[in-house]
Amino acid sequence: MPVFLLFNRVALNRVVMRRDVIELSATNIIRRKLHLLQNQAFINGKWVDALSGQKFDVTNPVNEQTLGTVPDMNVDDLNEAIDTAYQTFYSKGWHTSTSKERAALLKKWFHFLETNRQEIARIMTSESGKPIAESLGEITYGNSFVEWFAEEARRVYGEIVPTPQANRQMMLIKQPVGVAGLITPWNFPHAMITRKAAAAIAAGCTVIIKPAEDTPLTALALTKLAEEAGFPKGVLNVVTSSRKNAASIGELLCRSEKVAAISFTGSTEVGKLLYKQCANGIKRIGLELGGNAPFIVFDSADLNKAVDGAMNSKFRNCGQTCISANRFLVQDGIYDRFMSRLLERVKQLKIGDGSQDGVQIGPLINRSQLTKVSQFVEDAKQKGAEVVCGGKQLPEHGSLYFAPTIVTRLRNDMRLYNEEVFGPVISIIRFKTEDEALKIANGTQRGLAGYFYSTDLNQVFRVSKLLESGMIGVNEGLISSAEAAFGGIKESGIGREGSKYGIDEYVYIKYLCYGNLE
Ligand code: NAP
Repeated sequence: MPVFLLFNRVALNRVVMRRDVIELSATNIIRRKLHLLQNQAFINGKWVDALSGQKFDVTNPVNEQTLGTVPDMNVDDLNEAIDTAYQTFYSKGWHTSTSKERAALLKKWFHFLETNRQEIARIMTSESGKPIAESLGEITYGNSFVEWFAEEARRVYGEIVPTPQANRQMMLIKQPVGVAGLITPWNFPHAMITRKAAAAIAAGCTVIIKPAEDTPLTALALTKLAEEAGFPKGVLNVVTSSRKNAASIGELLCRSEKVAAISFTGSTEVGKLLYKQCANGIKRIGLELGGNAPFIVFDSADLNKAVDGAMNSKFRNCGQTCISANRFLVQDGIYDRFMSRLLERVKQLKIGDGSQDGVQIGPLINRSQLTKVSQFVEDAKQKGAEVVCGGKQLPEHGSLYFAPTIVTRLRNDMRLYNEEVFGPVISIIRFKTEDEALKIANGTQRGLAGYFYSTDLNQVFRVSKLLESGMIGVNEGLISSAEAAFGGIKESGIGREGSKYGIDEYVYIKYLCYGNLE
């Protein structure tokens, strides 16, 4: 039976959020405190409403019921957050905090995030529709960035440079850039925040987070735990807004002289807009954008591993993952065996309410995603593709469900071939030679992730170098990790998150020249 939130104040048919009751099953009601469920934004260490008093609803995509409301903030609220973050960094002295102090805070946050895993997972599943096991998986992943950057904070080393003149000493030091504006998407509502915020705070920056309209509750839950961990006022601020205010909030973050850096994860279209807006102030910007990942299965591939990898890469989060395989390229010699095994596995996927045990496929996040996925499949059908399974909406589960789908006979004039579907659709292209596969794989302006399966060692090394993607899974469909440098090339982004490079986005190198020494 579903995990869903119960609300105790229902007035005039309007559901108002309540924090303290959760029902785990219709027959077995377990009541416990949900203290992380917040309905206000967070600026300067205070939980606040929008200055305008406006709010927007957060809904559960499983049934489109309202889970609660949060402040619909605009540029007036953002200006307050920017001033607070700026003053906290400069006049209140956060820039002089030591890396040891920041590491200790991040470790404490990590500890609280770990001890509240179950509650965060329930909130995340409720607002994103993600199966509960995947929410827990994301929490492990998201928390790992906080732990990782707590450790990395202590290792932001400078350099003493050998000098060409005897009377000089040359040093390079790394300093925090200042206020960082962080804009995050709904598909990983926890990890996309911690991957940025933990790095920025480790570096010594203050942050303003603008979470996606669909998933602010997870962001606020993480914030509540940062507050409990003792983050000083103004270091971490969260401005919630509906889609209608997102553009003006993004623009102010990019244009404000008090904001030193922007980090954005989301669509390439919005990323390009923010990049332009940052140009005027020559503002530092990190962009983690959309992909169009090829997944190549060569004749020599281990069939079981390739099918496992395909299922993991494609159906995680109902296909709404930026590094999800988007175009499957399968070589002639293995094609029939791969297809029959894949079809068998796709048919076994359990669809339903992600809060129920064993469910692997939940709803899409919202109506526009559902429309987009449906239109992509329809477009391919009309242009001659074959829908091997699925290919339709599933109203019997809810109004935002789309069936796990396999489409073959893809052509390069179809949207499924050229664009990121961001849904549970496997698009198959059959190929004959390695050159042909590489040409198809690289024939896109996107370059986030790529995958291939082969047991031919020469081919493994060759193709790893020739695939034009920022990240490559070789005989592996799940590649994300805090230790790894996450990021794309071409129109998939600029900069890297995670790894020892993640902090570089939030520091600048200052060259110190000590001259005329005696
Ligand atoms: P999106 O529409 O670009 O939204 C992402 C974030 O930007 C949300 O917080 C959104 O707020 C905000 N936003 C929307 N319009 C804006 C504007 N004009 N100015 C400033 N901010 C704006 O993307 P999405 O549909 O949520 O996410 C899906 C995309 O993200 C996919 O393309 C996926 O590949 C990509 N993605 C990339 C990565 C990566 O690491 N490379 C990871 C995850 C997702 P609202 O929600 O309020 O509109």
